[in-house]
Amino acid sequence: MPPAPCEADSERQVVDLFEYQGKRLIARYGIPVSPGAPATTVQQAVEEADALGYPVVVKAQVQVGGRGKAGGIKLANDAGEVRTHADAILGMDIKGHVVEVLWIEKASDIAEEYYASFTLDRGAKLHLGMLSAQGGVEIEQVAEENPDAIARIHIDPVDGLSEAQGREWVTAAKLNPAATDGAVDILLKLYRAYTEGDADLVEINPLIFTPDGRVHALDAKVTLDDNATFRHPDYVDYDATQVRDAREEFAHQQGLQYVGLDGSVGVIANGAGLAMSTVDIVNQVGGSPANFLDIGGGANADVMAGALGVIVSDANVRSIFINIFGGITKGEEVANGIVQALERVQIDAPIVIRLDGTNADEGRKILEPHLSDRLQMQPTMLDAARTAVELAGGVAK
Ligand code: GDP
Ligand code: MN
Repeated sequence: MPPAPCEADSERQVVDLFEYQGKRLIARYGIPVSPGAPATTVQQAVEEADALGYPVVVKAQVQVGGRGKAGGIKLANDAGEVRTHADAILGMDIKGHVVEVLWIEKASDIAEEYYASFTLDRGAKLHLGMLSAQGGVEIEQVAEENPDAIARIHIDPVDGLSEAQGREWVTAAKLNPAATDGAVDILLKLYRAYTEGDADLVEINPLIFTPDGRVHALDAKVTLDDNATFRHPDYVDYDATQVRDAREEFAHQQGLQYVGLDGSVGVIANGAGLAMSTVDIVNQVGGSPANFLDIGGGANADVMAGALGVIVSDANVRSIFINIFGGITKGEEVANGIVQALERVQIDAPIVIRLDGTNADEGRKILEPHLSDRLQMQPTMLDAARTAVELAGGVAK
């Protein structure tokens, strides 16, 4: 059974922040982070470092961990070293992510490195906090080699995390006793950032204890729940720095709403509601959608050509189901759009159209002379879905 589209949808809708965005977010809740500034050129990196004062750390901003090991985190003692490191790190490929932004941060002295995170334990329907005195390395490695070094805590979202629980938790994790107060304070603030900020994950690794006795976040990994961004108007800024897959990026550039899925039927519909119903019906008749694209209200030739261009850029697409119910969108405009788009875009996958609503008759007349094996029209959504699934290679197993 393919997953229901809304499940697939909510799974996908997360926003990964860069380290510096994550740090700014947790800093709003009072968590101490180092001063720093983003930079996109070597010159800018040097200017920011000069302003901060040396030594600084030059840090690759990519939405993937293990940057240190990959050579994307370097200490610099003067402008010359910043220049060398910034030059080497900009454009570096870290696990398939190309570095376009640096974060220049005032360097910290480290006595000990800890790990702290909150995430959702879906199975238990509770929040899960993890804390370890063995930070700085990836938590998966600690979990494997020394599982007892991770102190876990389950938190009921209704009760929240109390200071007493936080203190017990820190003790269980065997942090340096001198770090207890600072760690408890940060954990309570991090829990607030996680819940009030509608995050799916907040992780500080390393959380450091400095030689002069302060506890401080040296890295931040934050994943936001995109379904809650309406509660945080400022989160739209993160959209510009999202790493989308190539299909999503292409659609985004065309101003189209696109959701990538894993099947073989490309879906184009007007309106988010109809797009979702179309995905449902493709699933119902035993197929699986490769994606869905909402072309919104004004389905003219440009929009339709753009939509088809996005759909055919997905190599998994075996057939295309265009499902239009005209309201404001008029049938003849959609039909003209499709005809013109076919002249402009090279399309290998067969297309099945269902056209209904305002001026559907006029639209169908325009399409009729163009119909063939490659371009079929069906009277109902169900018939069209069945045909599209058949053309995509039949019912999914
Ligand atoms: P990650 O490798 O992607 O997790 O990047 P981090 O930001 O966690 O940095 C990796 C490692 O670099 C840390 O665990 C530290 O050991 C080291 N590091 C980062 N910033 C500093 C700093 O300001 N001072 C020192 N001494 N080491 C740092
Ligand atoms: Mn880290």
